[in-house]
Amino acid sequence: MRTKKYMLSESQMPTAWYNIVADMPNKPQPPLDPKTGKPITEEAMCRIFGEELVRQEFSTERYIEIPEQVQELYKIWRPTPVVRAYNLERALDTPAKIYFKNEGTSPAGSHKPNTAIPQAYYNAKQGIKYLATETGGGQWGSAMALACQYFNLDLRVYMVKVSCQQKPYRKLLMNAWGANVIPSPSDTTKAGRDVLAADPECAGNLGIAISEAVESALAHGEDTRYCLGSVMNHVLLHQTVIGEEALRQMEMAGDEPDVVIGCFGGGSNFAGIGFPFLRRNLTEGKKTRVVAVEPESCPKLTRGEFFYDYGDTAGMTPMMPMYTLGHKFQPTAIHAGGLRYHGAGSIVSQLYKDGLIEAVAVPQLETFAAGMLFANSEGIIPAPESTHAIAVAVREAQRAKEEGVQKTILFNLSGNGMIDLYAYEQYFAGKLQDGSLSDEEIRQAIENSKLRVNNR
Ligand SMILES: *Cc1c(COP(=O)(O)O)cnc(C)c1O
Repeated sequence: MRTKKYMLSESQMPTAWYNIVADMPNKPQPPLDPKTGKPITEEAMCRIFGEELVRQEFSTERYIEIPEQVQELYKIWRPTPVVRAYNLERALDTPAKIYFKNEGTSPAGSHKPNTAIPQAYYNAKQGIKYLATETGGGQWGSAMALACQYFNLDLRVYMVKVSCQQKPYRKLLMNAWGANVIPSPSDTTKAGRDVLAADPECAGNLGIAISEAVESALAHGEDTRYCLGSVMNHVLLHQTVIGEEALRQMEMAGDEPDVVIGCFGGGSNFAGIGFPFLRRNLTEGKKTRVVAVEPESCPKLTRGEFFYDYGDTAGMTPMMPMYTLGHKFQPTAIHAGGLRYHGAGSIVSQLYKDGLIEAVAVPQLETFAAGMLFANSEGIIPAPESTHAIAVAVREAQRAKEEGVQKTILFNLSGNGMIDLYAYEQYFAGKLQDGSLSDEEIRQAIENSKLRVNNR
């Protein structure tokens, strides 16, 4: 009998996260304080984020030990399997071998608890009692709600109002795990009240929700911090458990991936699967291709520009060096909510600038078609975000067939789509469209944002 799943035992789990900054030929430039235009101090960051997380944000140490309590909680669902997608290979009639790492097995259904748990842990250890965050589609909010339960932290989640209405089950997940979910814009913050005064019917967006969460964390007092589920260096760091496990599992399979693929929002699941493989490229001269897949409607890596930009629409966060479409960019309402972010984290941006990783943009309909092919062959309904990685795995497998070459593909299944069936319903009904952008639309969004950055 051939092996379908490669499983590690708990004792084979990684005990350290990998910090790729240690091995980067060019380190990412530091974030800037928007008030002074100078690199932001750790102290200023510590008022917003937990201390240890800020330390990790600036760390250049190659490995950072995973606290024992975090390892214990990871064991609730980790290690996650690497699965050989025999049925998908057969459906594609390809000579390529396709493997996927299944991060959809966590209690919240995505890779996000890998960082939510350490973030809750470090904040609790520091004596923090309350956390505030925002969520778009609800995946990050539910991961954080889950994590806060374990450490008796009170969590307030600003959830984009229109998502609250479209995704009631994610809100209920958060409620079930004890979080207080506030539809954003709300009257609990000045940022929210200002928006509502101008437009009482405003459906909200991630930028406003970030502004509300940051304001609420700062206003609440010394025992409150803010937390974020992507983009930041410490978030990418925590996700490297994915790739560290996958490296060992590919060894078990006796296979070597030629290409490693992850979908790309702010970079956390992509970094999670990709960075440990990149370590071998950077330190052992290996040549594994590592590919980020973004939606055609939000193509920051493939069509954005590299400059210092804000992390949020309102322009409240530090400015970060990133490939960005500009913080004023408003992506169309595609269903991969987790990929609708205007910029790429600064580590990934630097790696891309240096030609150490690849990026591809794919249209929405192709991603859903790939998702359905996967659901019907491997039996798992993928999250709409993850279907982007699947689409490029499919392209790679088809190319292997055309060229008649052997190839080994590994992709990250960042989440399952059980709470995203609404998106599939829209797809079945033929209501989804591709959302390609003209050069002019992109140029304008970038110019508007640069103007705002320069006139701050
Ligand atoms: C949030 C999310 C993403 C996108 O975020 P990254 O930080 O780019 O990984 C991708 N897939 C799923 C399932 C998500 O929940």
